[in-house]
Amino acid sequence: MFPAARRFAAQCGLITCLATADSLPVRGESAEVSFAPFAVNAVSPVRAAPSRPGTGVEPAAMAPAPAGGLKAPPPLAITRFKNVDYVATADFAARLGLKGKWEEAKRQLTLTTGPRRLVLTAEKREVSCDGLRIFLGHAVQIRAGKLYVSKTDYEGCLLALLRPDHVSAPVPRLRTIVLDPGHGGADPGMENRPLRVQEKVLTLDVALRLEKLLRAEGYSVVLTRRDDRQLAPTKEADLQRRAIIANAAGADLFISIHFNSLFPDTRVSGTEVYVFTRPGQRSDQSWGFGQTDDTEHDVAPVNRHDAWTSLLAHALHRETIGGLKTSDRGHKTKHLAVLRGLNCPGVLIESVFLSNDAEARRAATTAYRQQIAESLAAGIRSYDATLDPLRPKSPSTSATVPRPASSSPP
Ligand SMILES: [Zn+2]
Repeated sequence: MFPAARRFAAQCGLITCLATADSLPVRGESAEVSFAPFAVNAVSPVRAAPSRPGTGVEPAAMAPAPAGGLKAPPPLAITRFKNVDYVATADFAARLGLKGKWEEAKRQLTLTTGPRRLVLTAEKREVSCDGLRIFLGHAVQIRAGKLYVSKTDYEGCLLALLRPDHVSAPVPRLRTIVLDPGHGGADPGMENRPLRVQEKVLTLDVALRLEKLLRAEGYSVVLTRRDDRQLAPTKEADLQRRAIIANAAGADLFISIHFNSLFPDTRVSGTEVYVFTRPGQRSDQSWGFGQTDDTEHDVAPVNRHDAWTSLLAHALHRETIGGLKTSDRGHKTKHLAVLRGLNCPGVLIESVFLSNDAEARRAATTAYRQQIAESLAAGIRSYDATLDPLRPKSPSTSATVPRPASSSPP
């Protein structure tokens, strides 16, 4: 530890920000089963297919349409490695009409469709989508020259980013947005005492600013707290209460607002976006040195919305990094108690580090907190704009946001 950091450690009362639920063990390990023939050669483009689902390369048999009225093509072929189901990149690239380029030297496959650009690296969990870092729950696998992504990562994350029109889950409406200012009352969250910065104060201020922006655009907004208070006597109950409030409000979207810390490391800076870990996968935290596997196999309520949560997280990630010009620490997963019980897509955002004095000083200014709120509003707007063309358009099922007469145009 550097002397300055040691002084900081002595002066600060920083405590862990994220509150997670207890993890469950343990996934089994067994021998791999099978793999398909060679498909991704060096600098060999993946065969592009027509972009409309269910055409061209698809087998004739079609599954019944899901509840949301969207098309449901037959399932992709599954290959199991070490008890995990994988899908071949060549298979979903053909289905989704993606162009592909394999670079042998980097062991990287780049898939593109329109403005989307996904870069997968063999044996790595970290992928890049539109230049943003995303950490998958399982590493990309390569077998006999063919690249595979876990079925859970494909269906719960990558598909929504690449081709949201292919997601089989019903397209959510977006009317009621629940904002959750992290911490409160006896729980201050992160404290940078030399700078007199408390996380609970900043999160509430950002939430109130974001509420104002979203109401001006016609959304209905509910805050889990509007003043300095805990929502329950214990931390666990407090976190669960926030999801209960969101569900009771009929939330279509939930954002928990936090500020980060890696104290006593005072150098790290940047933005992290968290979603609840997908079923059968480890959280990002559990991949750290000495950490135990925290895989949960049961489906949490919020896991039903994994695909749209990933789309929301990506939009918030992009707009926050772009708006704040912060370094990208990634779109990650964690077993977050505040998200677990949600009946809608939900994301926890850690915009900057209060353990980093430079970022804490910025966060202490109203102008910067307004910028955070505006970046989050832009992310929500982008998410809504992506979903809007996918929603049913009949009057009875229209999911357009009602615009109150009193609201100002955006
Ligand atoms: Zn926090």
